[in-house]
Amino acid sequence: MQNTDKLYIDGQWTASSSNQTIDVVSPSTEEVIGRIPAGTVADVERAVAAARKAFADWSATAPTERAAWLKKIHEQLVARADEIARTITAEVGMPLKMAARIQAYLPQASFGLYAGLTPGFAFEEEVGNSRVTREAVGVVACITPWNYPLHQIAAKVAPALAAGCTVVLKPSEVAPLNAYILADIMHSVGLPAGVFNLVTGTGAVVGEALAKHPEVDMISFTGSTRAGKRVAELAAGTVKRLALELGGKSAAVLLDDADFNLAVKSVLNSCFLNSGQTCNALTRMLVPASRYEEAARLAAETAATFNVGDPFGAEAKLGPVVSKAQQERVRSYIRKGIEEGAELLAGGPDMPEGLSKGCYVKPTVFGRVQPHATIAQEEIFGPVLSIIAYGNDDEAVRIANGTVYGLAAAVWSADGARAQRVAKRLRAGHSTSMRRSAASSSPAAGANSASTDSRNSSNSSRSRCGCRQKAADHLAEIELRSRPS
Ligand code: NAD
Repeated sequence: MQNTDKLYIDGQWTASSSNQTIDVVSPSTEEVIGRIPAGTVADVERAVAAARKAFADWSATAPTERAAWLKKIHEQLVARADEIARTITAEVGMPLKMAARIQAYLPQASFGLYAGLTPGFAFEEEVGNSRVTREAVGVVACITPWNYPLHQIAAKVAPALAAGCTVVLKPSEVAPLNAYILADIMHSVGLPAGVFNLVTGTGAVVGEALAKHPEVDMISFTGSTRAGKRVAELAAGTVKRLALELGGKSAAVLLDDADFNLAVKSVLNSCFLNSGQTCNALTRMLVPASRYEEAARLAAETAATFNVGDPFGAEAKLGPVVSKAQQERVRSYIRKGIEEGAELLAGGPDMPEGLSKGCYVKPTVFGRVQPHATIAQEEIFGPVLSIIAYGNDDEAVRIANGTVYGLAAAVWSADGARAQRVAKRLRAGHSTSMRRSAASSSPAAGANSASTDSRNSSNSSRSRCGCRQKAADHLAEIELRSRPS
């Protein structure tokens, strides 16, 4: 990879105004694997000015032309998939095989999807006797997290470009190397200067400068609820459009007639995916008290099948968590769970056996967790499952809805109609019933502190808008012009 000592602004690789840098550290070896510029407010000024300058021409291009650019980017993401998977495994720690299937694939999927949708999008339509014109919002600042780094970037940048917006990207400083591959692709396909800009750095400097910049029209933010609140405060100063995708503490509700062999395994796969660092991971498993022992036994047995180790090795199902800070945070939650009296069924706060280096955490399962316990309420972002027993369906719904989050949920039952009835009562952006997973084109929504978008959808019955909604986030229906028809 080249140019990671530079920023990408106005179609060129350019030095930051400061010579400060940020180390990128491998969570498995704890070695420095890269170094990026710690961007400055002056860098943000240059990038926003470039995006602003490029906006008039880019937003005036035909949707078919923008779709053609997205297709070129998609092709390059496909061609460089192996490099992308390896980079993300090195900086995030997800096992390579999984990173290839998820981390490298999803960005391709986003660009491919929008390349296909853009030509047919209703940028203009007749509504009664009016013509509705949907115009690009303007300059969009994309601020992204480290857990699925290039997926989060692509899920913002692709629809923004499709809509006719120009972009300033600030990727996570924890896992920024993949963003350089994307910038390199933008450059190599010859995307017009200023349409896509990359400024690396910290949230406190680059993120905040973008959030309050008067020439940024929209912030698309994914990250923690804490940082999202700060971004919202700053963005309010210039009344920006704001899309926030924040944290989660999602519940899996196993009804009393569910097939526990299937359900428990599926919940653990969700909870431990990417070492538990997935926003919509099912981290609370609600089981009927009458079947608690069975659920606890199955969960402990399943946890024991998650081999922890070198993410580049063939054996590992679980790599490290992303950093030393994250490792300590997760371990302190595990200690808190023990202190608060939960039953430790698997794992614990120590290093996994056989590992002495790296940011590893044992896959951990707690039983008999009280609904109000810290580990049942706060997002841990590590491989830690809390099993909570309930008396009846109403109590299960109350517990599932009883956190500040509302990102995702799942319901398991032998009876599909019953599962859907319960799923509809869950306040979550995405509710999965039975074994079906959400369509990739369905909206990524959340409720409460999970998101600014509180559309409630169940994947099996109520998903709507599809990915067009994402593109629509970047569009303004600013003109509703009456005209005789
Ligand atoms: P984070 O909030 O620490 O950082 C996210 C991004 O925001 C980074 O680029 C960071 O530099 C920036 N940032 C931090 N403070 C900022 C500030 N004051 N102003 C502007 N920008 C700021 O989150 P993270 O640790 O990178 O990611 C993990 C979090 O992301 C988890 O809470 C997870 O649930 C959430 N997440 C949510 C979704 C979703 O779709 N809801 C998806 C992935 C991750």
